[in-house]
Amino acid sequence: MSVFLDSAYDNHELVTFGHDRATGLRAIIAVHNTTLGPGVGGCRMYPYPDDDAALRDVLRLSRGMTYKSALADLPLGGGKSVIIGNPREDKSPALMRAMGEFVHSQGGRYVAAEDSGTGVEDLREMASVTPYVSGIADNEHGGDPSPSTAYGLFVGIRAAVAHRLGVDSTSGLRVAIQGLGHVGFLLARLLRDDGAIVYGADVSAINLQRAADLLGVIPVDVDDILFCEADILAPCALGAVLDEQTIPRLRSGIVAGAANNQLATPLDAARLRDRGILYCPDFLINAGGIIDVHHQRLGSAETEVRAHLAGIEKNLLEVLQRSDRSGESTDAVAEALAMEKIDRRRDRPEGGGRPLLADPETRRAAAAR
Ligand code: NAD
Repeated sequence: MSVFLDSAYDNHELVTFGHDRATGLRAIIAVHNTTLGPGVGGCRMYPYPDDDAALRDVLRLSRGMTYKSALADLPLGGGKSVIIGNPREDKSPALMRAMGEFVHSQGGRYVAAEDSGTGVEDLREMASVTPYVSGIADNEHGGDPSPSTAYGLFVGIRAAVAHRLGVDSTSGLRVAIQGLGHVGFLLARLLRDDGAIVYGADVSAINLQRAADLLGVIPVDVDDILFCEADILAPCALGAVLDEQTIPRLRSGIVAGAANNQLATPLDAARLRDRGILYCPDFLINAGGIIDVHHQRLGSAETEVRAHLAGIEKNLLEVLQRSDRSGESTDAVAEALAMEKIDRRRDRPEGGGRPLLADPETRRAAAAR
């Protein structure tokens, strides 16, 4: 596969492949843009069918991180890494340390965080060999950014319903959540407490039952959840769920979820707009996780984190208003707004691209080595 000619390649600054013979590690790190700071983003472990699929994923995800961090006014660039392998079968502490060495070899241009297939324990293994790891703070959530992601999503959903429906809460509105895992479950709780009627589906019978028992979520079949008649659809499971086949069948006026890369292609943003569906760009509305990770590194107080998360409302409203005025899709407007922020900083280059030190706990671990 030719990297530079691939449609997922977008002037990425760095794409590097890592292999460790002893542990069998095969991994790719991509850093998309470091104008605002080092490329921070999750380390995903997934049994990709081939190297091309892994490469495309890391290229797309790292680009999304650039936009996400820029929109969230974070001093961070966009990066991501993928480990090719099945997290249930192929993961070991030694493999994660080998990944840590690979991350370390980039000298801080990339800083790893948690993602699908990796957890805080894995990041701690990585942090035993490199300070360029984040999201492992010893806070009340054990470093898990999901509560902040769910809260940011909730803030965004309230802004979207205010904009579209002219109401100031989700009380009495129907919300369909695809995926009741870390984020989906917590989102369901926030919505329930706000008075919303919550429908949910999950391929995991355990997760579905838990949400039904503890929160009163109304179970829906996994094949039907996207097409439920609802006010809001919240995809919180997988990427690429909005495409040429699914969009014509949607029956929700607003789409706002945590999953990364919900649109299968950029054309799908226009498809949603043409159907009159208000799409909240995923990289804007799910920024709570990276905001949380950033504040873990700074050791910020909870009130500061909440104040930063509240900014998701302002950003989203700006995007929705610009989109209304220009007729462009919300996705295109959000990307343009992110690029404006990056370009403004490029004109004042002091500070961009500096490797940031890892969070205090990681620094202590590195110092102790
Ligand atoms: P998770 O793995 O805890 O939850 C995902 C849930 O979706 C699981 O319960 C899984 O069983 C379910 N699921 C998988 N396939 C499904 C399907 N076809 N239909 C219905 N349910 C299905 O993940 P999470 O941390 O809750 O994250 C959810 C999404 O949000 C992911 O795409 C993730 O990349 C993204 N995201 C998460 C965070 C975060 O802070 N956790 C931040 C930003 C983005």
